[in-house]
Amino acid sequence: MPQKNNTTQNASAGDSEVSNLLAEAGQSSHESEFFSPIPKGYIPGRHKYVAVLGTVMSGLGKGIFSSSLAKLLKDKGLKVEPIKMEGYLNIDSGTLNPYRHGEVFVLDDGMETDMDLGTYERILDQNLGEANFTTSGQIYRRVLDKERHGGYLGRDVQMIPHVTGEVKYNLRKLAMDKDADVVFIEVGGTVGDFENGFYIEALRELAFEEGEEGVCFVALTYVIEPQALGEQKSKAAQLGLKKLMEAGIQPHLVACRGHNEIEETALEKIAMFSNVPKRRCFSMHDRKSIYTIPESMREAGLDREVLTRLGLHDRVNQRHEDKAREDWRVFVSKLTSPRKFQAKIGITGKYAKIRDAYASIDKALEHCGAHLSVDLDVHWLDTTEMDETDVTRELEQLDGIIVPGGFGKRGTEGKIACIKYCRENALPYLGICLGFQMAVVEFARNVCGLTDAGSTEFDPKSPHPVIDILPEQKKIEGLGGNMRLGGKDVQVKTDTLASFLFDEQNMIRARFRHRFEVDPKYIEKLEEQGMIFSGRHPQQPIMQMLELPTKMHPYFIGAQFHPELTSRPLEPQPMFMGLVAAAIQRSQPGLASG
Ligand code: GLN
Repeated sequence: MPQKNNTTQNASAGDSEVSNLLAEAGQSSHESEFFSPIPKGYIPGRHKYVAVLGTVMSGLGKGIFSSSLAKLLKDKGLKVEPIKMEGYLNIDSGTLNPYRHGEVFVLDDGMETDMDLGTYERILDQNLGEANFTTSGQIYRRVLDKERHGGYLGRDVQMIPHVTGEVKYNLRKLAMDKDADVVFIEVGGTVGDFENGFYIEALRELAFEEGEEGVCFVALTYVIEPQALGEQKSKAAQLGLKKLMEAGIQPHLVACRGHNEIEETALEKIAMFSNVPKRRCFSMHDRKSIYTIPESMREAGLDREVLTRLGLHDRVNQRHEDKAREDWRVFVSKLTSPRKFQAKIGITGKYAKIRDAYASIDKALEHCGAHLSVDLDVHWLDTTEMDETDVTRELEQLDGIIVPGGFGKRGTEGKIACIKYCRENALPYLGICLGFQMAVVEFARNVCGLTDAGSTEFDPKSPHPVIDILPEQKKIEGLGGNMRLGGKDVQVKTDTLASFLFDEQNMIRARFRHRFEVDPKYIEKLEEQGMIFSGRHPQQPIMQMLELPTKMHPYFIGAQFHPELTSRPLEPQPMFMGLVAAAIQRSQPGLASG
C-alpha cells in the first residue's frame, strides 16, 4: 500500500535544507543568501524528484527514457508527474515551425507544447496540463513580473538565487498541487548548452535542499560506434558525463544510447569514470519498438535502483503493478506479433518528408495497427503539385486517406482533389481539422454546386466562404495565442457513424487548435445534399464532426478537432480505428464486415 501520509516521518526529511528554509520562511527569506521560495504547505520528504539530463548530443530520446521510467513507477501505484523544461525563450510551442521542432502538441487545458508531452501522455496514459511544461521564457517572465510588482524589493535580481529559485518553486508547486510521489524532470537540450544552464544549477540546488533521498539524477549519454573502427567508443560519453559532474551533479543512473547493445567493456569504462556502479548503467540501444523499453528497464532493475535512491520502497503497491504490467504485456505482444492484414494509408502533408511534424498521427496509426493486427504501409503524399491525374494514380493503390491539420494555402487544391477522389471512389477518408474544412469545401463545390466555395484563410474574397474565421477569434489581433485551443466538449448526434464509433456516448471530449470553422449559414445547404454534422458544440453552432451517410460511402468522416492527440496505446482513438478497419476491408474485400 502506498503510505503517502506518513512521509513526514521520512528519515532524511527532518534535517534537509528544505526544513531549515521552511523554518526560516515567514521571516524575510529575501534577506538570506540562500533565497529559495517554497510553496506554503510543502511537506519536506513527501515528494521526490527524478531529473533526466542529456549529454553528448540532443535527440537521444530523453522523453522516451523518462516516460518509460515514470511508467515503471506509476505501474507500482505511485503518483507521477512529468515536467519538460525547455531552454528556448518562446512562452509556448505555439509559434514553432513543426518542420524544425516536430508537431505542436496541445494539452487539454490549451497549452501548446513540445511533442515530448505527447510521449508522456501516451506512455503514462495521463492527461497533462500547463504545469507540466515550462520554457525559459515563462521562467524569466515570472521573475520579471515579480520584480515589477516589487517582489524582490531592495535586492538586485540575479540568475542565482532568483531565477533558479523560480525553477525550484515551480517544481515543488507541481509536486505539491498534484500530490506527486515523484516528479520527473526532463531538461531540454544537452548539458553545457548556454540556455539550459540555469535549470541544471536549479536542480543541483534542489538536490542539496531536498536532502539525501530527495533527487535521483539520470544522465543519458551516447556511445559512438564509428563504421571504420567497428567497435564502440565511450570517450564522448565519458566527457559528457564529466561535464555534468563539473556542474556539481553526480549522476545516480546512466542510460547509454547507441545503435547496438552497449558492450560490457564500454559500460565498465563509463561506470568507472562516472562513479556510477555498472548495475546502474543501462544499455538503451535502438530497438524495434520503444514500447519494449519499460520492461527491459525493469529487467535490468532500474526501477528498484530508483526506489532505493529515493527511499520509496514502502509506497509500492504490488497488485497494481502486476495488473498494469500484464495490460502492457498484452499490448506489446499485439504490437510485436506477425500481423494478419495489410493496408496502405496515404497521408497528405505539407511536411511530407518530416515524420515528426505528424508524430501523433503516426502513433495513433501504430496503436490501431497493433489492435487490429494490420501492417500499415504509410504513404506520405505531397499535394503541392498534384493535379487530378496524379491524384488518381497515387490514390487508386491506397486503402485509406488522411488529410491532416495544417495552415496556409500551399497544397490545399491537391488536398481537395484527393478528398473528391475519396468521396467518389468509396476510398475511406479521415479529415483532421484542415482536412475537415477541406472536406466541406469539396462537398460545397462538387455536390452543392457552389463552384467557387472556399475558405477565407486562403481566399479572403471567396464568393462562398463556407469556411470562415470564428467570430470570437476575429476580435483577437496578432500572432500567438489567438486560436481556439484545448479540450472541449463535443455533442455526438445519435444514429450516426460517429455515435457508433464513440460507443453511443452523447458527449465526448476532444482537443482543438484552429481559427476557422464552418460558416453556419451554409449548414442547411450542405445537409440537404447529404453531409451530416455528427458532432457539434453543445451550445453554439460550431460544427465539430462531419460524415457522409454509410449508404453513400463506407467511411468518410472528419473532425474539426485533432483525434490523434488523444490516442493511447491501450485505448486507440475511435476515428482512427474506424479508418483502419475500413482500410482493411478495402484491401481484403473478402472479409466479413464488423
Ligand atoms: N488552418 C485551419 C484553421 O486555422 C486549420 C488548423 C489546423 O488544421 N490545425 O482553422
